[in-house]
Amino acid sequence: MLQRFSVPAYRSRQLSEALYRGWAESLDEVTTLPKELRERLAEAGYAVGLPRIVETFTSVDGTERYLIAAADGQTVETVWMPEGDEGENGDGSEAAAYFDATICVSSQIGCAVNCQFCLTAKLGIIRDLTAGEIAGQVVAVLKRHMVQIGRDRINLVFMGMGEPFLNYDAFMDAVRLLVEEVGIPESRMTVSTSGIVPGIERFAAEPVRPKLAISLNASNNQVREQIMPINRKWDIERLLRAVQQVPLRAREKLTFEYVLLGGVNDQIQHADEVGALLRRVNRPLKVNLIVWNPGPGIRYDMPQPHQVIEFQNRLKLNGVPAYIRRPRGRDIYAACGQLKRTGG
Ligand code: SAH
Ligand code: SF4
Repeated sequence: MLQRFSVPAYRSRQLSEALYRGWAESLDEVTTLPKELRERLAEAGYAVGLPRIVETFTSVDGTERYLIAAADGQTVETVWMPEGDEGENGDGSEAAAYFDATICVSSQIGCAVNCQFCLTAKLGIIRDLTAGEIAGQVVAVLKRHMVQIGRDRINLVFMGMGEPFLNYDAFMDAVRLLVEEVGIPESRMTVSTSGIVPGIERFAAEPVRPKLAISLNASNNQVREQIMPINRKWDIERLLRAVQQVPLRAREKLTFEYVLLGGVNDQIQHADEVGALLRRVNRPLKVNLIVWNPGPGIRYDMPQPHQVIEFQNRLKLNGVPAYIRRPRGRDIYAACGQLKRTGG
């Protein structure tokens, strides 16, 4: 925006530095710009600001869920997950002097995909977020915790509300902003998709991109169609073919998420089917098993704890590395699939 004011290019850099790394909330705080230029900007109607956290819910496990205000009065949900115990010595000494945390970022308000087990789906799609609103969630949370990029280790997961690949351009613009202006490396970012094939194909060609996670959630088309209607548009075979086109970087692995729904997709034969599917993919990969998080009005059951372990072991027996994801912030409705702008 500064080109119109006939000032040298480094002034633009100073402005983005103040915004994205200095967390400036008004033009007055951008003290690297001369006062006279700030006044001219204000007179021309320009303003700078950060999205505001209007509500915070804190879980017993340290997870925080935020409602962040958008300009039109809507709220966006964002989750902060400190990695937890590793930093604490348990000997009365202070916690680690740096953060190791993951921020879960939303890409849309609501979601159009309509997965049957997901609370966000109940909202329908309200609207897309802009690139500024997507990146702004991260900047607001970094400011709240006074995070120092470089010292602290921050991971981003685009796994909040919405389907990132149905808001592709804004999502990728936000990624570039976060890499270039905020300074978070794309190797510390993961985007999860329900399987939007054209999005995956575009993503495969991106020079700068996060790691990819695919919500597989079922071992065959029959079950997947039932729980994820999107499977009628792009079935498992189309999905896996698209995924195979994504060029992986050194040591990069694809992640397949698998939400375990009691009695629906959590049986031993399902694990064997997943094993067979993923062997055919023939790329470095892992499976993250997620125990389904309940929500009001959703008629599924949680899997039995022993079945979760058996499923994991069976995948491993099939040669597929499998991890059980610890649910975070279930008590404050911050866990996977629970984001729905609920008050409590
Ligand atoms: N829309 C994207 C990203 C957000 S959802 C996607 O679907 O991939 C992030 C993950 O949470 C997905 O793997 C999804 O399958 C999972 N999920 C949704 N609802 C859930 C619930 N109630 N319990 C556990 N996981 C859930
Ligand atoms: Fe949308 Fe993901 Fe929820 Fe499916 S699981 S409805 S794609 S947010």
